[in-house]
Amino acid sequence: MKQDVQNQQTKRGNPYVGFLWVILIVLLLNGLIFPKLSKQKIISTDYGSFIEKVDSGRVKDVMIKSSQIFFTAVDKNGETNTFQTGETNDPQLVERLLDADSPNENGKIAFNQIVPEENSPILNFLLMWILPGLIFYIIWRQTSKTIQSRMGAGGNFMSFGNSGAKIYADADIKTTFADVAGQEEAKETLKEIVDFLHNPKKYTEIGASLPKGALLVGPPGTGKTLIARAVAGEAKVPFFAISGSEFVQMFVGMGAAKVRDLFKQAGEKAPCIIFIDEIDAIGKKREGTFSGNDEREQTLNQLLTEMDGFDGRKGVVILAATNRPESLDKALLRPGRFDRRIQMDLPDLEGRKAILNVHLKKVKHDSINLDIVARATSGSSGAELANIVNEAALRAVRMGRTRVTTSDLEESVETVIAGAQRKGKVISADEKKVIAYHEIGHALVAAMQTHSAPVHKITIIPRTSGALGYTMQVDSGEQVLQSKEDLFNRIVTLTGGRAAEEIVCNTVTTGASNDIEQATKLARAMVTRFGMSDKYDMMGLETVNNAYLGNDTSLACSSDTAADIDREVLSLIKNAHDKAKSIISENMKVMHEAASFLIEKETITGKEFMDIVHCCTAKTDLNN
Ligand code: ADP
Ligand code: MG
Ligand code: ZN
Repeated sequence: MKQDVQNQQTKRGNPYVGFLWVILIVLLLNGLIFPKLSKQKIISTDYGSFIEKVDSGRVKDVMIKSSQIFFTAVDKNGETNTFQTGETNDPQLVERLLDADSPNENGKIAFNQIVPEENSPILNFLLMWILPGLIFYIIWRQTSKTIQSRMGAGGNFMSFGNSGAKIYADADIKTTFADVAGQEEAKETLKEIVDFLHNPKKYTEIGASLPKGALLVGPPGTGKTLIARAVAGEAKVPFFAISGSEFVQMFVGMGAAKVRDLFKQAGEKAPCIIFIDEIDAIGKKREGTFSGNDEREQTLNQLLTEMDGFDGRKGVVILAATNRPESLDKALLRPGRFDRRIQMDLPDLEGRKAILNVHLKKVKHDSINLDIVARATSGSSGAELANIVNEAALRAVRMGRTRVTTSDLEESVETVIAGAQRKGKVISADEKKVIAYHEIGHALVAAMQTHSAPVHKITIIPRTSGALGYTMQVDSGEQVLQSKEDLFNRIVTLTGGRAAEEIVCNTVTTGASNDIEQATKLARAMVTRFGMSDKYDMMGLETVNNAYLGNDTSLACSSDTAADIDREVLSLIKNAHDKAKSIISENMKVMHEAASFLIEKETITGKEFMDIVHCCTAKTDLNN
């Protein structure tokens, strides 16, 4: 339920409503006082009968208007009527009228009377004078109001302290901590804030004041926005939610005015929560450039001032969320402002199960093997898991079922990771063979190495993401640390696809482009960040810029070293590639057997694949 905080302001801000009332009343009076005048009927007649009426002395008054003549005449019964006729070029008309008799008191026809068909005098006056004036007045009000809010918000001139912005307080939030799965540490910290909002006295009596602000930090989709709403829902207080980008306006000073408004309204509604989502939009580090009064900087300054200005004991708690904490201005993070930092991490195995459970409650489902799904989604965020559950429900409907099954979830994991299946895509038999050997190459290399995750599924059904096939490996547990061997083996597995193409099909294809990208990234990180090359020991050669957004890095070394890093990376990848090639040449029998099976079935499970591997290797052992 939205509650309009600025309701009152809009009501008193309509000065010309009164004028409209005045007009309405005048129009009503006009209708009452001059009903006859405005009701009278005009009868059309010809010029001949007009002259006849004039000559017979029955016309009272005449008005000649451009090409028309209006006149009133008394008929034989003594009734007065208004007539209308067209004017012919009659030079004697005036003479005729002057000479003619008339029922008027002075016996003369009146020339100058207003014909009743015209508007009443009051209406005329209104239309000619008041209405244009009113229109100009309204236009003037409107423009000057806009100008006021644009300029006045700057704070130094024509200021009315009002950004004209609508800020809504959500007073009835249903989200609670139960909707946020996992994230126990974050909840623990936030519970204290909830308690404070419930019962501030408990804290103020001792003399403690709670932190004014808490900053939620973590990768996208980990539930930062969700948990902020949950705090408001738990505390049952109004929730002012605003996104950082909403402060950044076209006109300088608007953002600052909005901040001022926000805090003013929050102060009136205390205890309450202010939530600034994506605060990095305004909270970026201020740089020493010339743009001293740049809009964003003014807004940030205003925010800092407001945070200092308000009384922490009043019960206004400010929450903010960002996934780029390193870009925030230091002033925002100092004690007294956002001094509490709440980390929201990607969920671990148990966390993923809990999140899947929360979202499975919303759909009808059979008993689900959560473990399989949770293990297959290593590295996924809460938002991705929510999406996976929804995709599974959609798939169940497509398949004409009423309940979600484990296989729906497994398929939707693949849909989310690799895109939907593209069954319609036609792939020639030759190409299919290359793709099959490529994927089996990955799987076989993975299977033949210790320290690499077991193969879960191999498929050569093309996906909408462009993947022509893929090998899915699923770790049995959660690994926190990865050794040099683990990472090297992963590179070997990545090169296994290309190695199979080379050895079996005698060709190299573009199918390995994604493998190449990943292998290079991994090898590079081993050398530059993990200290896993002999040459550079524990020297850090790269720094990570956006830990939560894609890990882009920048080099922190001389260009000589940069060139040398490339050589190190290359030799690492070459070693891995050689290892993959030797594994594949030693196991050609498995390769052929598994590939023909895959070409036939298009998808094989990890178990089927391992059966083939064991079967073939056992036979070779016997032959030896
Ligand atoms: P963020 O703000 O961190 O980018 P959101 O709070 O917007 O992420 O999360 C998006 C959606 O993902 C939520 O609406 C919710 O459905 C789901 N989600 C994320 N984390 C969780 C969680 N820990 N428990 C349950 N659902 C979650
Ligand atoms: Mg968010
Ligand atoms: Zn590949």
